Amino acid sequence: MPDVCSAFGCSNRRNARTKEQGITFHTFPKDKVRRKAWTLALRRKDFVPSNHSVVCSCHFKPEDFDTTGQTTRLREGVVPSIFAFPRRFGKVSAIFKLFIIYILNLKLMCNAP
Ligand SMILES: [Zn+2]
Repeated sequence: MPDVCSAFGCSNRRNARTKEQGITFHTFPKDKVRRKAWTLALRRKDFVPSNHSVVCSCHFKPEDFDTTGQTTRLREGVVPSIFAFPRRFGKVSAIFKLFIIYILNLKLMCNAP
C-alpha cells in the first residue's frame, strides 16, 4: 500500500525525497466526527478514506504539529486546512474580497466631510 497523500492536487508520497524535505504523513483520525471533518476539508467528491489513507504535512499549519516527542505528531482535533484547490474553488473568496473592498470604500465615503 503506497502512502500517497489524499489531498486534492497533491502527489506527495512517502519516499526518500519527501523524507528529506521533512514532509510527514498522517493517517485519518479514528474518531468518526474528526474523520468526517478531514474528509470534508479535502473537498474530494465521493472520497472515502480507508484506514491507510494519509494526508501529508503540507496541508497543516505549523502550529498544528506537536514536535516535542521523537516523531512529528498532529495535535488533537486539528483539521487539514491548506490546499491548492483549482480556481473555481477560490471564486467565493475572490467575491468576498471585493465585498470587503466595497464595504471599506463605503466607510471611506461616509467619513468624508
Ligand atoms: Zn499532500
